[in-house]
Parts: sequence; C-alpha cells; structure tokens
Amino acid sequence: MDCIFCKIVNKEVPAEIYYEDDHAIAFLDMNPANVGHTLVIPKKHFETIDKMNKIELDKLSEAILKISKGIMGIADGMNIVQNNKEVAGQAVPHVHFHLVPRYKGDGYSLGWKREKRVTKEENDDFLKKLKEVKI
Ligand code: 5GP
Ligand code: ZN
Repeated sequence: MDCIFCKIVNKEVPAEIYYEDDHAIAFLDMNPANVGHTLVIPKKHFETIDKMNKIELDKLSEAILKISKGIMGIADGMNIVQNNKEVAGQAVPHVHFHLVPRYKGDGYSLGWKREKRVTKEENDDFLKKLKEVKI
C-alpha cells in the first residue's frame, strides 16, 4: 500500500521514531507546530478512527497515554488533535494523533473559531440522524 505512515512503520522511510511497541509508534512530525510535536499511530493501517475496533483503539490509547506522560513531564501543557477525512484537515489517510506540547508564551491559540451559528434545530436534526446510524 502506498501509505507514507505504513512506510514509516516498516522503516522504509526514515522518521524520528522515539517510541515503539507491538501496536503503535510515536515519531516527530516533520513539519512541527511546536518543539516535540509528536504523531502517535497504529502500526496497522486504518484510514480513519471509526475503522478501528475497541481493542485496536485501546492498544493505541496505551501508547498515547505513555507519550502524554512524557510530554507533560517536559512541557507546560499539550493539545491532542486527531483529524478524519480531508474536510477535517486530514492530509495523511492513516490514523494519527497529534500530540503538540505547549509552552508558556508560545503564542498559539489552537482551537475552533466559534463564529458559525449552530441552531437548536440543526443539533436536533443531528441527534435524530445519529439514532439511525449503527454504532
Ligand atoms: P494531518 O493533516 O493528516 O492531520 O497531519 C499529517 C501530519 O503528518 C502533518 O503534520 C505532517 O507534517 C506530517 N507528515 C506528513 N508526512 C510526514 C513524513 O513523511 N514524516 C513525518 N515525520 N511527518 C509527516
Ligand atoms: Zn498506512
């Protein structure tokens, strides 16, 4: 499969992998938002998080927790971001969690702008549709 993150898992493409277990790796983002910007990914290829099952996500969570403890031991805070599909900003179609260390005075204001007005009707419609989706 022509997936850059699968290639990193298989060591066919170099990356600063600093954590590895049977199910996950963590490595530095090549275009970091901050010092220590880390990507934690499952070794197995899934395009988006909803394609994973509980066990697979549990295994990935273990790695995310370990890396989180490391980052929180160094930085002042951390943002975790996980994008699914292009519309949400996903550029690499292999599940990955961004763990972005935050440092006092780093000047970032990550987050969504709350400029879009969401009506109660729209949210009610969302909840109605959710009942029809098999989860
Ligand atoms: P996305 O936008 O899909 O959530 O994030 C993809 C991330 O992967 C980006 O932050 C980008 O810098 C990073 N990235 C893409 N290709 C590579 C690569 O080959 N090596 C590393 N280390 N990071 C990559
Ligand atoms: Zn992949």
